[in-house]
Amino acid sequence: MWDNLAKNNGRVDPLGPENMLVVAAGPLTGVYLPSSGKNSFASISPATGLFGDSSMGGGFGVELRQAGYDAVTIVGKAAELSYVFIDDDQISIVLCPELKGKGNLETEGRIRDNLGDHDVKVASIGIAGENLVRFACVTSDWSRNAGRTGIGAVMGSKNIKAIAVRGQQDLPVANIDKVIEISEQAYKELGAHNMMGHWQKQGLMGVIDYANVMGILPTHNFRDTHWEKSKNINGKTMLASHKIGNTACFGCPMCCGNINLVKEGKWAGTVTEGPEYETAAMLGSNLGVDNFASILRGNHLCDDLGIDTISTGNLIAVVIEGYEKDLLTLDDLDGKPITWGDDDRIMELIEQIANCESIGATLALGAKGVLKRWPQLKDIVLHVKGLEQSAYDCRGASSMALAYGTSDIGAHHTRAWTVGKELEMGADWGIGEKVDLVIYHQHIRSLFDMFGVCRLPWIELGFHEDFYAELYSEVVGQQYGLDDLLVKSQNLYNMTRAINVKLGASKSDDYPPARTFIPIHSGPLAGKVCDKDEYEKMLALYYEKRGWDEQGTPQIACD
Ligand code: SF4
Repeated sequence: MWDNLAKNNGRVDPLGPENMLVVAAGPLTGVYLPSSGKNSFASISPATGLFGDSSMGGGFGVELRQAGYDAVTIVGKAAELSYVFIDDDQISIVLCPELKGKGNLETEGRIRDNLGDHDVKVASIGIAGENLVRFACVTSDWSRNAGRTGIGAVMGSKNIKAIAVRGQQDLPVANIDKVIEISEQAYKELGAHNMMGHWQKQGLMGVIDYANVMGILPTHNFRDTHWEKSKNINGKTMLASHKIGNTACFGCPMCCGNINLVKEGKWAGTVTEGPEYETAAMLGSNLGVDNFASILRGNHLCDDLGIDTISTGNLIAVVIEGYEKDLLTLDDLDGKPITWGDDDRIMELIEQIANCESIGATLALGAKGVLKRWPQLKDIVLHVKGLEQSAYDCRGASSMALAYGTSDIGAHHTRAWTVGKELEMGADWGIGEKVDLVIYHQHIRSLFDMFGVCRLPWIELGFHEDFYAELYSEVVGQQYGLDDLLVKSQNLYNMTRAINVKLGASKSDDYPPARTFIPIHSGPLAGKVCDKDEYEKMLALYYEKRGWDEQGTPQIACD
């Protein structure tokens, strides 16, 4: 991507043919070890205009490696809607005008039918990607999404409806006996873990209760961070009324995917894989929706139409709050009012976003597009660099504000999730410790994306970092310690920052949303706020520790 940027004199239109789409697995993707089914999609993001990436679970990346590819890059644009078929050494571009406007579920099934092989892996876009919605996803295996930064719109801009892969090759592993030995031990440890049963039952849905108790649950567009109705949208409610099964990514005994069915009511018959925490929070508490069936309906629509649930939940909440505060008029809302919890109107808005119709045409432009049309909303749109904020309030933990502010892709939690640690530590924490924690997270968490494995066994079940370093060494046949690998992560962070600086990013893009500096008014963290002076000090120290100048420009050579 750096080279492609240089080739285009530092100017790349995210939706132009010159933008590069990278589909990459990692050296551990598909290797016999727990939770190794991840791959990443990266590009210049149409949401931010900067570096963007998003990782996907399931088995797509495994198949890509079995076809013999570590990474695929795509530039240019197909003349008509097409899908790319990678069949080991053969690559073809297949016209598919019949798939125009089709949802992800139908697209995946029809491509498999067309190829006469139901084991082919397919990563596709829904109608939102075709319509260039700035937060369109790429989806595989029913509902495993590369959800953030609008990679689906990049695919849509290239007229690529899907990438299908079939691979039949063995993966390269230097020391197979040792890898099997380490993996067997890892599977044993996972199986015996006392949280494994809870995890298999609830997956990430257990986080709703945690976030509510800690006072970080996004509620009413992050105006509140604690909700008295949260029990209606938590994991126990899901188990009691809706869950009918589990799904898992390649090789993962944790099976965090919840399959849910709506059995009665106006959304009866809806089946979806999900929600996980972010979706339940952003389509639930953040929109004032306490009917779990409505969350399932919203989850299903977003997956099939191909839009990110985090961005969707943010932007619909902005409309509700904007209308409530008279910042938006009934005309702005096409004559249809909306209030918290209005699930019928919320479902309508989800469809309008994907189809770029009515007010949905503005929301489809993402945070930056919304603010361009309605600058009066600047204090209530929660975003960093144009990417809408993930489902964790950060006012009780200023390190999390720094994590959002300095994230290369915008306000997303997967780069650094420091909020839990800081809240546990209480007030006895200096800014140096906070900055160190953010940098450590940004490096250690990036490693998992680089390896192509899921980070949840590390986060939730306490897998040690050294385990991954040892395994990586045996796979590639060269010894690496964790510190060597963290240097690679640091280099990566310098590189993505350099890409962003080249595309125009500077210090002014490294601040959390305006609401971060307004105190929380209720709940366990009432009165908590991120202090602006403290933030400025942390940001300056962060640049210093990274060896960047006062504007956040890396002092390195990237060529
Ligand atoms: Fe996939 Fe969940 Fe397992 Fe991670 S924990 S690999 S997301 S099933």
